Amino acid sequence: MQKVIILSGPSGVGKNTLGDFLLQQFPELSYSVSATSRPIRKGEQDGVDYHFMNNEEFELKIKEDELLEWQEVYDGTYYGTLKEELDRINKLNKFPLLVIDVFGAINIMKNLKFKPLSIFIQAPGLDILEKRLRDRATDSEDKIQKRLEKASVEMHESAQFDLTIINDDLKQAQLQLQTVVDYFLKHPL
Ligand code: 5GP
Repeated sequence: MQKVIILSGPSGVGKNTLGDFLLQQFPELSYSVSATSRPIRKGEQDGVDYHFMNNEEFELKIKEDELLEWQEVYDGTYYGTLKEELDRINKLNKFPLLVIDVFGAINIMKNLKFKPLSIFIQAPGLDILEKRLRDRATDSEDKIQKRLEKASVEMHESAQFDLTIINDDLKQAQLQLQTVVDYFLKHPL
């Protein structure tokens, strides 16, 4: 049976940290490596963190219908879930874990032929999100502002997901996530 877990929420909310935690806890899960046209960051590896490509290559993937969902998450920067990534994980007899942006997640829920488990990670507040984005120090001021503007819109979309977990206390959020994912993997929907 196919089971897909979608972890979403505003940028800087801690989705990746929580996603890594799930991958450690549940060996039956496999990270779905997205495609992106954003530049590679220090410490990232092509094919591990993302499949990095330029805009032309990404637009070709769109044209050839190779993506299950895609978003221009920030101006001129594409992100998307490759259909072949889910096939690859399926062949491993594992279940995909998608860590993706809010509108991409909403789209994928419409496109899948079965019901995934969708989890919205909520920030305790925009001020905390701003602090996290600054502490991360991966983005310019302009990019941080764009991410915050987008986050303030995304924070209102949580009702479209199966459940919301507030990432205030990391340990608490991990525990809630572990409980719900454990249940989902053990029980047919
Ligand atoms: P970052 O540039 O910080 O790695 O990611 C920026 C945003 O793009 C994050 O919210 C991240 O979850 C989202 N993202 C990553 N992969 C995908 C994807 O395949 N599809 C969509 N729609 N968003 C993605």
